[in-house]
Amino acid sequence: MEFIEALKLRSKLLLLFILITLGLVLVGTMGYSNTASVKKNLDTIYFGSLVPVIELNNILQVYHGKISNTIYKVKNSQISRGQASTQIKEAISKIELEWREYEAHFKRDDELQYVEYAAIEIHATNSFFSKMASNILQENIEIENFEARVEYINNIIKKLINYEIELAKYERKRFLTVYDNIILNIGIILGLTILGILIISYYVFKSIQRDHTRLELTTKKLQKANKKLENVSYTDVLTSLHNRRYFNFVYERELKRAKRTKSYITFMMMDIDYFKQYNDTYGHIEGDYALKSVAKVLKDTLKRPSDFVFRLGGEEFGAILTDIDESNSASLAGEICQSIKLREIKHETSKAGEFLTISIGVVCTKADENLDEEILMIRADEMLYKAKENGRDNYVITTNVAKEGA
Ligand code: GH3
Ligand code: MG
Ligand code: MG
Repeated sequence: MEFIEALKLRSKLLLLFILITLGLVLVGTMGYSNTASVKKNLDTIYFGSLVPVIELNNILQVYHGKISNTIYKVKNSQISRGQASTQIKEAISKIELEWREYEAHFKRDDELQYVEYAAIEIHATNSFFSKMASNILQENIEIENFEARVEYINNIIKKLINYEIELAKYERKRFLTVYDNIILNIGIILGLTILGILIISYYVFKSIQRDHTRLELTTKKLQKANKKLENVSYTDVLTSLHNRRYFNFVYERELKRAKRTKSYITFMMMDIDYFKQYNDTYGHIEGDYALKSVAKVLKDTLKRPSDFVFRLGGEEFGAILTDIDESNSASLAGEICQSIKLREIKHETSKAGEFLTISIGVVCTKADENLDEEILMIRADEMLYKAKENGRDNYVITTNVAKEGA
């Protein structure tokens, strides 16, 4: 069954279809040939044996009914001798005709001899009556003992009839045997065909199932790979935070949701203070470590499922928070500033203190349909600028989301 394994699903179904068709064609052909055989047997019985009996009976009928009757009638002067002569001649022609037809049927070898004998006797009887038909016309001719003659030919024909009936019985018996064999054959062929189809179907479907399982496995792997790819394309490699791309997507989605449900939305823009100096002092590698530490603080502080933290680029981070009001947003921003300072990442060249610090611009508002799509980013940027101006290591928050002026 390796052959089936190697086939594609469509080829398998096609193979199954072809096999079923072939099986049915086979059953059909066998059925047809068997039916033909049944027909032949029926023909043998009805036309080979029974029809000859009819013809022989007709001949008997003519001898008794027609010829004998005519002779009795002429004896009793019920009909004229001329009429009688014609009627007898007609009867003889009818007998000859029926006999020719009888002889035309198929005859067995053992039957032939007796048929030939009967033919001679019939012809002799016919000439006897033929002569009688001529004699009747001469008035002085007496009617001979025709009864014995009729009786004699009657016996011969009856024997033939009995033979034909025996033959019919034999043929019927033979036919029943053939018929039983046909039924048995059809049963066997049908059974074998169905068994064959079942076996092949089993293997084909098993193989299809195997294909299906394989396909499912591949699909699952593919889905996993896709998810991984998606995560990669939405994740910042250095900090493992969401990246700018994902920010664009979430910003739009969350803003729309807040507008629709008229709920609070907070956006924070965060920027590490004097980070250029940090890099200059400790080197880029240390700078990267510092970025990771800041990312960790942000993740640990903003840990609700509805909080989103992003690395927007360089040493800039963003956060989108939903369903928290201004005071809670402010305290979270304060907590972030505190936590980062408390990490005590040494920053000698900072003018904001001895450790690494961060400045945050926050905007918090209850959204409605009039809320501008860009305003949160603009305001947060403005607030961040203020925080930097205020000496860094702090946050500035606003709830003003009007389009004009701060
Ligand atoms: P401010 O307090 O006004 O924010 O000053 P700043 O020095 O932090 O700001 P500035 O924009 O002048 O400098 C940002 C620096 O961040 C410049 C660059 O060296 C550093 N930086 C940006 N991306 C990376 C990074 O992926 N790794 C490291 N190590 N440094 C980065
Ligand atoms: Mg910056
Ligand atoms: Mg900076």
